[in-house]
Amino acid sequence: MYDVSAKDGFNCHMLSNDEKENIKAAIHKKAEELDARILEYRELTKPIPPSEAIGRVSRMDAINNKSVNEAALRQAEKLRAGLDRALQRLGEDRFGLCTRCGEAIPTGRLLLMPGALTCVRCAG
Ligand SMILES: [Zn+2]
Repeated sequence: MYDVSAKDGFNCHMLSNDEKENIKAAIHKKAEELDARILEYRELTKPIPPSEAIGRVSRMDAINNKSVNEAALRQAEKLRAGLDRALQRLGEDRFGLCTRCGEAIPTGRLLLMPGALTCVRCAG
């Protein structure tokens, strides 16, 4: 089987096509989960009805929950954007390489966090 990664000796850390396929599948799965969560958060961060409709205390609760959910929504959207970037990068030679130190990011980490741009050491 022709393997592009074998072409350049210095690219021996490159991910195999199988690994890339696995990562791609993991990205799509996570993207689906995130999309569902984002929809949920969007639902939860809709404008809150006036106090007359739900009572003052409930409304205060709703406002607190809303800001928590808004933070969660922003976080989920950020992760989602990271997944899109990861998908774009998947076709590039540098995918799977830490953007800080250039070392290969372990495949396990990529499967777990496909949006990761750095190795564990650099992420800390
Ligand atoms: Zn690194």
